[in-house]
Amino acid sequence: MLIQRGGLKVVAGLGISGVAAVNFLHKQGYRVAVTDSRLIPPGHDQIPDDVETRFGQFDQALLLQAEEIIISPGLDPQLAEIQAAVAQGIPVVSEIQILRRFTDKPIMAITGSNAKSTVTTLIGLMAQAAGVKVAVGGNLGRPALDLTQDDPALYILELSSFQLQTTSNLAADVAVVLNISEDHLDRHGDMFAYHTAKHRIFQGVKKVVYNRDDSLTRPLVPDVTPMQSFGLNAPDMNQYGVLKDTDGTLWLARGRERLLKSSDMYMQGTHNVANALACLALGEAIGLPLSSMLETLKTFKGLEHRCEFVKEQHGVRYYNDSKGTNIGATLAALEGLGAAIEPQQGKVAIILGGQGKGQDFSALQNALSKYAKVAILIGEDQALIEQAIKDTTTLIHADSLQQAVELCQQHTQAHDVVLLSPACASFDMFKSYTDRGHQFVKCVNTLA
Ligand code: ADP
Repeated sequence: MLIQRGGLKVVAGLGISGVAAVNFLHKQGYRVAVTDSRLIPPGHDQIPDDVETRFGQFDQALLLQAEEIIISPGLDPQLAEIQAAVAQGIPVVSEIQILRRFTDKPIMAITGSNAKSTVTTLIGLMAQAAGVKVAVGGNLGRPALDLTQDDPALYILELSSFQLQTTSNLAADVAVVLNISEDHLDRHGDMFAYHTAKHRIFQGVKKVVYNRDDSLTRPLVPDVTPMQSFGLNAPDMNQYGVLKDTDGTLWLARGRERLLKSSDMYMQGTHNVANALACLALGEAIGLPLSSMLETLKTFKGLEHRCEFVKEQHGVRYYNDSKGTNIGATLAALEGLGAAIEPQQGKVAIILGGQGKGQDFSALQNALSKYAKVAILIGEDQALIEQAIKDTTTLIHADSLQQAVELCQQHTQAHDVVLLSPACASFDMFKSYTDRGHQFVKCVNTLA
């Protein structure tokens, strides 16, 4: 029998992180209730029996009884029922806030518009390889409050702008905003609000990592806060960046010191060089040994479906970037891989298309003209995409992914890259972006 303490904690919105919050608070001995607008929310059968549940609508009366509301990242705090509670002075916090209150262990906090999952996973592996008892999760993989079960020496958290919106004074040991581009404006209203939410990650921070190439990632923190930058230009003393040899070889570098050739990493593309440099800076901030981090960089194959290296055949490298579901991600992949093979006169054969979600594909024009030798168009919006990118490179239509991959093979030679990065949603031809990626890998592996 647990001894109950405190007032009522109400979890708003179930789902993966809501379930973790309910179970964590219950285990800590709090009186917990949960409300969700769905009649049968996911995870409803994964919480203790004595937790009060109100499903089918957000229970206003219950919310107004709360000592504190723990809001799921999927819920907008502007919701009328939540705002009514706020008006009564009831605090509304994220599950990250609960974690911060619970633990005095160090937290590494990572956010950004793109690359969060890649960087979080990679730095997690680096910490693990260096022998740190680490727990990795948050917006990616396991919810933050589940990680407490591991009793880690270090939490590495991927955080979304939604989680940060309701997190105060995180006091991370090190925090980074990797990059900022337009995203989620439907929820945040405008770029300023989105930027403000992201920068909450720096409240009470002990050390900062920022991206020199993206001034919006640099926080306003007291001068005494140690800051280290990464970027794709030559780094200043003690900073991370890229040095270029006269023969075009690119080096990941710290100040003047050359650390690792970018070609020694499986992860390819300049955007992934930036991601690797971000990890080195984050690792340095928590005292990971450089040599061990570089070893991890040499073995990390990247995440599935994110510029994932599939195989090399006849000198042509095949990459699965099925997670490239919008123009921003596809631009990073195309420019990243394109710039990396440029010194060897390599070009990209890219597979584009699917459901275009009303995006303006003309934003791809410059990158296609510069780096692509052919674009194979698939899916529902091929005609629309063709219209937007005509005259940039050779455009060919394909009826299936199999045919698209075969066409890419026919049009490429040694030093070229074949890239699936559709800039589109997948649902017209596939179950999901993962299904699309898996089918691509299968097609590539069965090429003659
Ligand atoms: P997130 O978790 O932020 O969505 P991911 O690591 O899952 O990020 O990558 C999502 C997409 O973003 C990938 O398709 C990849 O092409 C693109 N991407 C990866 N790194 C970067 C970067 N540094 N800048 C811009 N886009 C990137």
